[in-house]
Amino acid sequence: MKLELKHNLRKFNRPYLIAGPCSVESEKQIMEIANQLVQYNKPALLRGGIWKPRTRPNSFEGVGELGLPWLVNAGKEYGIPVTTEVANAKHVDAALKAGVDVLWIGARTTVNPFAVQEIADAIRGTEITVMVKNPINPDLMLWIGALERFQKVGISDLIAIHRGFSVYKHPKYRNAPNWEIPIALMEQMEDIPIICDPSHIVGNRDGLLNVSQKAMDLNFAGLMVETHTEPDKAWSDAQQQVTPKKLQELIGKLILRKEDI
Ligand code: PEP
Ligand code: MN
Repeated sequence: MKLELKHNLRKFNRPYLIAGPCSVESEKQIMEIANQLVQYNKPALLRGGIWKPRTRPNSFEGVGELGLPWLVNAGKEYGIPVTTEVANAKHVDAALKAGVDVLWIGARTTVNPFAVQEIADAIRGTEITVMVKNPINPDLMLWIGALERFQKVGISDLIAIHRGFSVYKHPKYRNAPNWEIPIALMEQMEDIPIICDPSHIVGNRDGLLNVSQKAMDLNFAGLMVETHTEPDKAWSDAQQQVTPKKLQELIGKLILRKEDI
């Protein structure tokens, strides 16, 4: 089924919200998170990493394919379409077969045109929605190029996600926002909505509101926020995840334009 996220974005009040854990850990975990999200602030999309691109070996690399039905079932149970990261054609086939509604391309994949093309070829002919995170390095053209590869195989429902850019020992953020880059993308690809991922920019819980507010001020369409019922016990990105209750508080504190409320 075509989700048409790009078109649905307009039907939701800003921010269009994507929430869920960094990683799917078990069926119970993703069910509980979805349950609480629905109670506090039902997101438009439930996210959950199944294959995790970890920087170093010996970290948790995701539950893999067996977690796909857990994510899909949680989405069905609570009436939220689901999204996961895919990094190769095998991931795409498994995710599509399991019924994942939206695919996202991670920052470490967007840097690699071979990988992006392989994924684009694997979804050619489908009507799936694709979200493309910026590459980890501050290269606007690589980001644009990845989006164009999906356009070229006929994917019309495309979203960009700004998750910041990798730097050595950044004093403030885990990934520098370099706001001028998503702004340039907005100017050059007017038709593609942009969502901000403050979780991966900030890297901790404290700065999430500031970065989310900045994204709203810059007219981003939405936010992707990592959410976990027990953030400190999360198997990946524990420092930056928030509970569904905290997410609701954060959204409540955002100052929005009159027409968004
Ligand atoms: C994630 O969203 O958990 C993730 C790994 O994202 P990124 O590609 O932005 O690092
Ligand atoms: Mn993460």
